[in-house]
Formats: sequence, C-alpha cells, structure tokens
Amino acid sequence: MSAARSERRRLLAQERYLSPLPVGGAARRAAVVYPHHYAVGMSSLALHTLWRLLAEAGWSVQRAFLSPDPGRGLEHGSRLRDFHLLAFTCAYELDYLNLPRLLEEGGLRPLREERKPEDPLVIAGGPGVTQNPEPLAPLFDLLFIGELEPVWQQLQPALALAAQSKAAALEAAAEIPGVYCPQRPRWRPVVRQMLREVDLFPTVSVAITPEATLSDMVLAEVGRGCPQACRFCLARQLYHPFRPRSLESLLASLLPALSVTRHVGLLGAALSDHPQLLSLCETLAEEGALLSSSSLRVGALTPRLAEVLAQTGAQTLTLAPETGREVLRRQIGKPVSQEQILDAAQAAQKAGIRALKLYFMVALPEETEEDRLAAQLTERELKILDLIAEGLTNREIGQQLYLSEKTVKHHVSDILSKLGMTRRVEAAGFAIRRAARRPQQ
Ligand code: SF4
Repeated sequence: MSAARSERRRLLAQERYLSPLPVGGAARRAAVVYPHHYAVGMSSLALHTLWRLLAEAGWSVQRAFLSPDPGRGLEHGSRLRDFHLLAFTCAYELDYLNLPRLLEEGGLRPLREERKPEDPLVIAGGPGVTQNPEPLAPLFDLLFIGELEPVWQQLQPALALAAQSKAAALEAAAEIPGVYCPQRPRWRPVVRQMLREVDLFPTVSVAITPEATLSDMVLAEVGRGCPQACRFCLARQLYHPFRPRSLESLLASLLPALSVTRHVGLLGAALSDHPQLLSLCETLAEEGALLSSSSLRVGALTPRLAEVLAQTGAQTLTLAPETGREVLRRQIGKPVSQEQILDAAQAAQKAGIRALKLYFMVALPEETEEDRLAAQLTERELKILDLIAEGLTNREIGQQLYLSEKTVKHHVSDILSKLGMTRRVEAAGFAIRRAARRPQQ
C-alpha cells in the first residue's frame, strides 16, 4: 500500500461524524476540493457546508486536499478526472498557487480551454472568488459569486446534468443568479447572492478530527456580515448586511454535537455583535462545552462575557486593535480608544484569561515609523517615555510611579533598545512628536 493511501486511511479512521450524511450512488460523483492541506481544509466551515449540501442532494462525495494525496479523493482515492463535478472552495489568494497542481495531479489540464468536453465540470466559490473572480476565470468552468444557499434549489438540477454532459450543465447553470460562466457571453451583470434567512441553512461541522488545525472542535457560524464599518474590511463588504442566527437555531445545531465533543468553536466576522452571544455562551457553558471564539470586538468584551469564556476553559482571547494610534484607527473606520482596549484587557485579566492575542496591520497609508516603534512599548514604558519628555530624571520618574530608581533605569534602557536609540534626548524628542499627533481630549 502506498504511503499516501495509508495516510488517507489513518486520517479517515480518526474522524468522528456529528450527524450521518447520505451516501450517494456512483451515478453522480463529486469531489469537494480545498486547495490546502487536510488539517487546514477540515477547519474550514465552507468545506463542511459544500460537503453536506452535495451529499444531501444525492451526490456521492469525496473530499480532496493538497495533502496527503493531492489530486485524489480522500475517501476512495479516485483521481479528480474521474468525478463528474469538482467543487472548489477558495478563501485565500495564497492558496491559488495550489490550484493548478491539484488539477494536474488529478489528471486534468489546469486551464479550462485545454480540458476535454468529457472532463468534469470544475466550479469554485468562496470569499476569494467573490472578491475578484477574474484571476481564477482561466481555470474554472463556473464561478459562484456570493453565498450559495439562496440559489441552491435552482442550481442542483443544473449541476446534476454534469453527470451526463458538461455542456448541458453549463448551459443550464449560466442563467442562474450569482453564476459567472467565463466562457459564455453575458448580457446581464452577475449579482452577488446573499442568504436572507440564515436560520434556514445551519452552518456547522459535518465531522471532527484531532488532525484538524482546530482539533476535535465542532465549528458553528453564529451569523454573517458585520454591523461595523471598518473601511479596510473585506469580510464586511462580501457578507453585508449583518445577519445573526437565532439562539434557538445555534443551540439546535450545537447541543447534539456535545455528545461527540466538548470543544466548540464559534465563528463569525461579528461574533461579539451577536445580540444573544452571552446567552449562547452561558447555555453552552452550563452544558459543559469548552468554548473557543474568533476575534472579539474590543468594545464588546464585557467583564461577564470574559468570565463565561474563562469558565469554559478559554485561556486566550483575541482582539483586533489593528494599529497602535487612535487617530489611525478612526481613519480606518475602527474608532476604538486606548481606554476601551485597556478595559477589555482588564476584563480578560480579571476573568482569569492568561493571554491576549492582538491583531495589528502594518503599512497603513498614514502610518509612520513612530507608530510602528511605539507599538512595541508597554503601557508602563509609554508612561515613562512621556515623563522623560517632561524632563524628569530617573529618580523623579520613580517617585511619580512608585518605582525604584534602578527599576526605572532598566525600563529606560529597554525603551531605548526597542526604539533603536542610544540617547535619552532622542527618546524625549520621539515622545514629544508622538504627543503632538495624539487626538485632542
Ligand atoms: S468589526 Fe471586524 S468584521 Fe466588522 S467591519 Fe470591522 S474588521 Fe470587519
């Protein structure tokens, strides 16, 4: 047995299904393809969603990944060319480089125009496709713009035709809203599709595995879109408007899964804007769940929410200040104050959360070298820096901050080293320039 085949078997043996999926017949064979390794793909809710939709529509579905066996279905090892339909989910541009390799390893030409009429119908969707389908247009027969669920009923019979004729499937699918068919002339714009009633399609893991990056964790999408308006944010643009799922539908998806795993991952661009997040977390905590969450909005991390997350075993929380300067945050549409960040950090610390992960972006249009340097200093170091700028000696700084002169000396030397400076006067100049850029209170 080849090494890749035994690795496929090993991975399959470790999977646990949260609910059984129908097993389709050989008359309609589809592969759901994630252009990255198994561990990453199994942590993608998009892969689970496609897998479930196709299986429930009667397809015999296999999954395919960049590893362990690129170009072959995980379940039975079938080569990609032997399916009727290949459905890719593309989230990140860096994964695009893996697409031609996957197709070639699967016995297919990467470019659509070089593939034969009897080859499978090759389609793709996902955030990468929705934000800009053109870089992928030479590879795919169909690209889907937006969310698949609203037109899934219409799309199913068109895709089913792929088992007989790729041309017939293309013909039928090309007129469905949201479908972009690069080789066909189109007289109307392709309109991004958006699911209004999110509760109609629960988005939750099909199976869990210890081999996934999010190990043995059932993932659930708590909502789509975001009510905030950060100017840089692609997620908001692609999934606008904000549509939280109801508490009832989330609990209906998650509570049965707790008999298989206690690890629950709550996902969503605007997780902390969900109006019933606290009730959801409290109920799951009472049922013994161990919660993990995607990043939380700074202003929304209340002491009670931090407490519940800590009770369920969360040791790290993630916040996204984006940049160290308040003015810059306002410019990018994220008006979060230093105080709000510190309040959130304090709420986390009081609740017993051991670590905070902070997301920052670098190279914002208005960002200066000083912003980047200042982001490396702790709050105490920034305070000492301000006192240096006021002309205070180490002894005087120590008296103000109730620190020994020796401790202040250590801090000053750390500050100089972090700022790449050798002289105190340089640090004072840096602090004065920084103060001039601060927002007026
Ligand atoms: S809060 Fe997060 S998801 Fe919402 S718009 Fe801002 S960056 Fe995007």
